[in-house]
Amino acid sequence: MSRCTKAFIHKNNLKHNIEQIRKFINPDVKLCFAVKADAYGHDAVLTSKIAEECGADFLAVATVEEGIELREAGITIDIILLSLCTPEEMPYLFKYSINPLIFNEENIKFLSDAADEYFSDNADGNCTKFNVFLAVDTGMGRIGCYPEEAGEQASFINSRKHLKLEGVCSHLCVSDGISEENISFTKKQGERFRIAVENIRAKGIEPEIFSCGSSAALLAYPELHFNMIRPGIIAYGYYPDEVTEDYLKSFGKDIKLKPVLSFETKVVAIRTIKKGESISYGRTFICEKDTRIAVLPVGYADGLLRRFSPGLCVTINGKNYPVRGRICMDQCMVEIGFDSDVKLWDRVVIFGPEESGALNTADTLAKIGNTISYEVLTSISKRVKKYIVE
Ligand SMILES: *Cc1c(COP(=O)(O)O)cnc(C)c1O
Repeated sequence: MSRCTKAFIHKNNLKHNIEQIRKFINPDVKLCFAVKADAYGHDAVLTSKIAEECGADFLAVATVEEGIELREAGITIDIILLSLCTPEEMPYLFKYSINPLIFNEENIKFLSDAADEYFSDNADGNCTKFNVFLAVDTGMGRIGCYPEEAGEQASFINSRKHLKLEGVCSHLCVSDGISEENISFTKKQGERFRIAVENIRAKGIEPEIFSCGSSAALLAYPELHFNMIRPGIIAYGYYPDEVTEDYLKSFGKDIKLKPVLSFETKVVAIRTIKKGESISYGRTFICEKDTRIAVLPVGYADGLLRRFSPGLCVTINGKNYPVRGRICMDQCMVEIGFDSDVKLWDRVVIFGPEESGALNTADTLAKIGNTISYEVLTSISKRVKKYIVE
C-alpha cells in the first residue's frame, strides 16, 4: 500500500547530471556531493547510493544524524559534516566516521577532548588520527576562521593527539550572481582562500584537500575548483540563481541539466461548485460561474507551500489547471471546468522533468513563491515517500 502523493527520483537524470558535472571539471578535481537536508528532499539514502555508484568521492551532510543515516544504509565513502555540532554528538563523528569542519580554539578543543576520550591508544603507541577540515571565512560571514588565522589554527589542529588536518574549505556567498560586483567579490574570496592556504603551508602543513566552491563556482569559476568542488543543486538538475544555461552559453560553456524529482499525486474527487460559492479557508476564491474542481490529497504539510496559491497550476494529462483558494495542510483544489477530460484517479504532476509529464519545474514554483528551487525541493516533507524510476 502506498499513498498516491509521492515523489519519483529519476535515476537516469541524476546520473546524467553527475556525468555532465564530471565532464565540466578536470579529472583530478574531487567531487563532494551535498546530500544534506535529505538530499535536498530527494531522499539521502537513495540519492547517495546512486552518487556513490557514479563515482562521487565525498558526500556532505549538515547534521550528524544525516551522516549516521547514510552509514547505517551501508554508504562507505567519506562523509563531511558542513555544519557544527555539540559535544554530545561528537562521539558519533568518530563512531560513524563523519569528518567535521572546525576552525577556532574552542571547537578544536572540544573535538580534541572528545577524541581523546573516544580513542584508546594501541599498545605499540600508535594513536588513531581523526581527519578534520579547517573552515576559513573568506566572506560568507558564517563559520570559519579568517585567512590570517588559518596557519595558526591548522597547527593547533595537528598538535592535538587524535586530530589530523585533512583539508581546508571555504564557502562563496555571491558566486551565483553575475553582476560585476558579485564577480569581483567572488574573485576576492578566491584570493583570501589562497592566502589561507599559504599561511597553512608556511607552517609546514600540507593538507590533501582544498575546496572553495559549490555548484555556482563549479559552473562559473574553474579557477576556484582547487582540488575539490562541492555541488548540490546542479546534481538535482537546477541552475544556481543567475548562473543559468544561457549565461554559461554566452561564454561558450555547455551544460544541460535535467530535473531529478517529480512530485505527483492523483485526483481523489471531482465536484461541481456553484456560482457564488467559495473555495477553501479564508474564502479567497469565489466562483464567478458554475465550475468543476478536482480535489488533490496534497498540501503544505507535504511541501506544497501556501504561498504557491494563487499562481500555481498543476499538470493533468498534459494540461495545466490552476489551484484555487488557499492550499490546506493536506489537500488543495484545482479548477478543471466543464471542458476538460480530467477523470477521477488521474495522475497529477506538480513539477518534475519533462518525461514525468510535468509542465512545471521547481523553478516555476520558486518564481511563484518568491523563493529559490532549493527551498521548493527541501520543503518536500518526509511524509512524501520517494521512489526510484529509471
Ligand atoms: C549546501 C552547501 C553546498 C552545496 O551548495 P549548492 O549551491 O547546492 O551547490 C556546498 N558547500 C557548503 C558549505 C554548503 O553549505
